[in-house]
Amino acid sequence: MKLLKIFVPIILLALTVYYCSTVPITGRSQLSLVSASEMNAMSFQQYTDFLNQNSLSTNKNETAMVKRVGANIQRAVETYFNQNNLSQELDGYKWEFNLVESPDVNAWCMPGGKVVVYTGILPITKDETGLAIVMGHEIAHAVAQHGAERMSQGLLQQLGGVALSIAIKDRPQETQNLFMTAYGIGSTVGVMLPFSRTQESEADHLGLIFMAMAGYNPNAAVDFWIRMSQVGGQKPPEFLSTHPSDETRISDIKKELPEALQYYKK
Ligand SMILES: [Zn+2]
Repeated sequence: MKLLKIFVPIILLALTVYYCSTVPITGRSQLSLVSASEMNAMSFQQYTDFLNQNSLSTNKNETAMVKRVGANIQRAVETYFNQNNLSQELDGYKWEFNLVESPDVNAWCMPGGKVVVYTGILPITKDETGLAIVMGHEIAHAVAQHGAERMSQGLLQQLGGVALSIAIKDRPQETQNLFMTAYGIGSTVGVMLPFSRTQESEADHLGLIFMAMAGYNPNAAVDFWIRMSQVGGQKPPEFLSTHPSDETRISDIKKELPEALQYYKK
């Protein structure tokens, strides 16, 4: 018995140390050859390049809506992370929300809070609440570090598991291509590393909580995903590549709604 009393704390301590290297929020174990600061540095550079190469929407109302929803979700994320003692995870974030003129039904959030919404998705989001579903989902991918996970998978496949700092130094072009591929931007669209089913489910789940905390009714997510499932051939890589079938996704969201609604104050 005495031995047990000594060993149990040691085992618990070992487990605590072990789990410290897992994903925040979900606790899921995640391949990481990439540090957050390395990802943010690449992200900020690529985001600037992307905005230089693409046109911002000239629609003042829609642009203001994207910035408003983004700021509301940013506040929700910061509150959520603060409540869960994870504020340091958002260190180095430089949030930005831009609406880009493009027929693509797409949106994404790069590491460090760099968001782009394409005008092509607005007919499907329909209103501000619909936009909050998309932006909540994309921001959830970023704060759960799914991009770093995809980048790590790409490094593993293409450069044999070398750490990003070494990859950037030795093979900068390949590294940049991998980053672009992880986000489905640039000339290599179509070979984007898909988000896994697990990542998609995490983004849906967290996205519902973030939108609810931001003041948007998460019940709207069911109708939104039904509309998205009807987009068909025009679905962008991010939404097309999602492994959960539309029916699975919608039924999972229905199960998560009671939890999300606890965060929703009218
Ligand atoms: Zn997604």
